[in-house]
Amino acid sequence: MTIAVNNKFFPFIWFNGEFVSWFDAKIHVLTHSLHYAGAAYEGERAYNGKIFKLKEHTERLINSVKTLHLNLKYSFQDIIDAHQQLIAKNNIEDAYVRPLIWRGDESLGLASNLLSVNMLILAVHSVPRKNSNLKLHISNWQKPHPKAMPIECKSSGNYNMMIIAEKEAQEKGFDDALLLDWRGLVAECTTTNVFFVQNEKIITPVADAFLNGITRQTIIKLARNLGYSVEEKYINPEEIDQFDECFITGTAAEVKGIGSIAINESKQKIFGQSSVTLHLQQEYAKLVRL
Ligand code: PMP
Repeated sequence: MTIAVNNKFFPFIWFNGEFVSWFDAKIHVLTHSLHYAGAAYEGERAYNGKIFKLKEHTERLINSVKTLHLNLKYSFQDIIDAHQQLIAKNNIEDAYVRPLIWRGDESLGLASNLLSVNMLILAVHSVPRKNSNLKLHISNWQKPHPKAMPIECKSSGNYNMMIIAEKEAQEKGFDDALLLDWRGLVAECTTTNVFFVQNEKIITPVADAFLNGITRQTIIKLARNLGYSVEEKYINPEEIDQFDECFITGTAAEVKGIGSIAINESKQKIFGQSSVTLHLQQEYAKLVRL
């Protein structure tokens, strides 16, 4: 059997309330969420055997489940307990943790009442990736109107366009795509939120058309506690030229420095500084292990 991830995995998966070994955790090809998306998930990270912001991730997961009309039988506390059991069973110190909730294989009917709602939680080793000097371009794909896609919902369906945008960025030699929203304003990257720095002041787009990430909220609080001024404002792509630094945030990515953004075919912004980014990178790394 092919191992589905490049990362090393932890051997036990919490699968509908039981522990199943990695190789036995299987689903049928008729699985509804494989055909029509509509699965809800979270991306979490354990540090020193504890999941950072588990309560916040679980709240967001439950909200995603409600938005998708998934009738989950597990409560908030059941989900928290299942995570603690997964950590203990696998002796996890540091890991990327993925709870996933999906519709089963009982029917191909789009909204059939016969469909079961299933849940798993698995963990893989968190892989160190490039931390600074990432190259972005502004994608031609734009985030849909919030009335076309539930923006606060981590639903597999929302990631279709993100996959296309990231693939396209890679094919053009960039690390990731920066997406504009339906109004043409700066929104976020494929799986991270974006921040800029101008004269030591931190600026980030208003989170009304993209996922208001848990790391984004943590960084805003952390930066303010460190004495930085943080402003949430609407940002036109033309304004990027004025900024001194750019960084992105996310549970998996943590805090990553951006080296350049290709604003269009003929214009590229190169960021010459990274002192605020480095400061926040260091402080975030301390915070997650407190
Ligand atoms: N935006 C999108 C679209 C994402 O998928 C993620 C990753 N969950 C983020 C932003 C960052 O969110 P968080 O900090 O909660 O991981």
